[in-house]
Amino acid sequence: MKQILVTRSSMPPFEEYMEEIRSVWESHWLTNMGPKHAELAEALRAYLGVERIELFTNGHMAIELTLQAMNLQGEVITTPFTFASTTHAIVRNGLEPVFCDIDPVSFTLDPAKIEERITERTCAILPVHVYGNICDTDGIEAVARKHGLKVIYDACHAFGETVNGKGAGTFGDASCFSFHATKVFNTIEGGAVCFRDTALGEKLYDLKNFGIHGPEDVRAVGANAKMNEFCAAMGLCNLRHVEEEIEKRKKAGNRYRSHLEGIPGLQLNAVQPGVKYNYGYFPVIFERDVFGADRDEVFTALAEQNVGARKYFWPLTSAFSAFAGKYDPAETPVAQRISERVLTLPLYADLAHEDVDRICETVLRCGKR
Ligand SMILES: *Cc1c(COP(=O)(O)O)cnc(C)c1O
Repeated sequence: MKQILVTRSSMPPFEEYMEEIRSVWESHWLTNMGPKHAELAEALRAYLGVERIELFTNGHMAIELTLQAMNLQGEVITTPFTFASTTHAIVRNGLEPVFCDIDPVSFTLDPAKIEERITERTCAILPVHVYGNICDTDGIEAVARKHGLKVIYDACHAFGETVNGKGAGTFGDASCFSFHATKVFNTIEGGAVCFRDTALGEKLYDLKNFGIHGPEDVRAVGANAKMNEFCAAMGLCNLRHVEEEIEKRKKAGNRYRSHLEGIPGLQLNAVQPGVKYNYGYFPVIFERDVFGADRDEVFTALAEQNVGARKYFWPLTSAFSAFAGKYDPAETPVAQRISERVLTLPLYADLAHEDVDRICETVLRCGKR
């Protein structure tokens, strides 16, 4: 049976990409903030509706270097229900992650629980718009303002989304996006930080380009995390098609809903009022006692059909063996419960509706066993 993976990278027509890189070929300007880099930065700034943007080699370096640019010290309150990158960016900066529980419906940081995690060492909050569900940004901002904390959003799942018409990248002190091949919008590998403060922008620029401002002018001890011209060109092509891709994802997502909505024991992603979604993921929470099968049984049944669903996000980052003995995942019981029950079903623009039907049949059959 044909293999279906959890996602499939969006790609422009081959000829369109060839045309886009012709000028790169002719100029021999392959990286170091060339014309494609500038063009993509401006196009994304407009598309995302943000004031300022700095492109990066990937989403992880966008997060890691943003924390570094802010000169933070001490503890960062964050969610364990995320991809490894979020927590690693904190730890790799010599900061301590303090895990806070999530809301059982949106799976994002619960502002009511942030305050009890604050100590005199807390310097920032790093929430995640997980699955494209927008965090309670008002609640988080209120806590942050009261305690003088920075807020850095991991917006890697929220590309192109808006909340009451406002870009998802406009919240907090900075919002970080990933343009990895597996994301709704990709530059093969890539990322960006959106922000307002020009001083932060200068620090981010230093950190992504060795602090170099001219052949004889090195102003800071920066790393190298620049986006190259071929990745920027891929981004320019993919950006032309992204609305159409999101529309196709929406149709596939609605097809899933038509089969799975209202089935006892299944919790689908809740729809947030005012949010324009990108339909990046289709998570389902399986309550074994009601549905009749648990997450792992469904995962295995799908694998037998050559369907690669993913346990995003299990284990919690606080349960990684890399941190053995350091954190107690039981301190975030909601995140732990969701993590044990969630399965992310395949979703991408070209996913055939017959395949969605077949995947849903397999899922529902598990419940009837
Ligand atoms: C993809 C992702 C990242 C990291 O982005 P890369 O571009 O792969 O480095 C960080 N956080 C979350 C939530 C992600 O999904």
